[in-house]
Amino acid sequence: MKTKNTHRVVVTGAGGFIGHHLVKYLKSLGYWVRGADIKHPEYEPTSADEFIITDLREFGNCSDAVRDVDDVYNLAADMGGIGYITANHAILARNNSLINNHMLEASRLESVGRYLYTSSACVYPSFLQDDADVTPLREDQAVPADPEKGYGWEKLFAEQLTIYYHEECGLDTRIVRFHNIYGPLGTYEGGKEKAPAAICRKIAEAEDRSDIEVWGDGEQTRSFCHVDDCVEGIVRLMDSGFVQPLNLGTDEIVTVTELVDMICDASGKKLNKVHDLTKPQGVRGRNSDNSLLREVLGWEPKISLKDGIGRTYEWIWSELACQSRANPPKPNIDSPVQLEQRKI
Ligand code: NAD
Repeated sequence: MKTKNTHRVVVTGAGGFIGHHLVKYLKSLGYWVRGADIKHPEYEPTSADEFIITDLREFGNCSDAVRDVDDVYNLAADMGGIGYITANHAILARNNSLINNHMLEASRLESVGRYLYTSSACVYPSFLQDDADVTPLREDQAVPADPEKGYGWEKLFAEQLTIYYHEECGLDTRIVRFHNIYGPLGTYEGGKEKAPAAICRKIAEAEDRSDIEVWGDGEQTRSFCHVDDCVEGIVRLMDSGFVQPLNLGTDEIVTVTELVDMICDASGKKLNKVHDLTKPQGVRGRNSDNSLLREVLGWEPKISLKDGIGRTYEWIWSELACQSRANPPKPNIDSPVQLEQRKI
């Protein structure tokens, strides 16, 4: 019988935000881990046992990536924040469909044990999300379909393809729908950053009592899930045997204005929000219905947004401080040991 120490897994997208955290978490549980990505992690070295730089749009590279492993965690994707995904429909859908089609077929041919696909709340229809006071989204509401253009349509199709591989080829699959994952070691600039990281960066760079730009009128709503909860949920889902799509997020809904205010509180600064209504905002409201998550896993994310966003701000502030770009006050930054102790 395999133990965790002899269990071999591959994490694709291991050079990215969630993939890098997942590799660390799997290593802490004792797995042998291969990372695969087109690039290395940006902010610290990988803890994978083996890391291959590879382009997973090529079928042969997918076969090499999944060879001799028990489990596949497929997190590789061309993605970014709302600015990036709304400006690159064609290339993003093409890149991601190549990765996902090839990863499934390679996993089937190499007879991997279990295969987890990382989908997104972007699969949910926009007609259910046009009110800031949104009803939380249930897994069975993705169809009839009207997902996010490009990125969301591809995710929805890749979910279906994953289900077909389960039903017709016997692949033991999982599908997780993330809702806005954030935390330290995530991209915070360059065009691919998501809202929490972008707002942390703007606030860290701002002088006290100056202006910061906020995309949209601030009334749009979202829920945000800390990456430590996310990686725990991924592994719990893999071990659950549940094959239908499952939300992974919190149901702590906030407006963007509330998010900005929370980060301002963490920063100790008083700033004036200047709203840019020309910038993309995505759907008006989005929240996760966690009923199925609780039922299937007997668990749900537990890190509050206030706690998680504080840790994220501290990390982004110190990154910018190293580049002489952060403005005081310096947040109360924990040492890595203290951070570890603060984990719930
Ligand atoms: P990320 O961009 O940080 O990581 C994705 C990684 O995939 C990157 O390191 C990238 O280099 C790699 N990649 C892209 N194209 C590749 C290729 N051709 N070959 C090999 N590697 C390639 O994104 P993330 O936030 O870590 O997202 C991980 C997964 O979760 C993705 O499937 C994403 O769509 C999904 N997701 C994330 C969120 C979120 O809030 N972060 C929300 C919904 C879904």
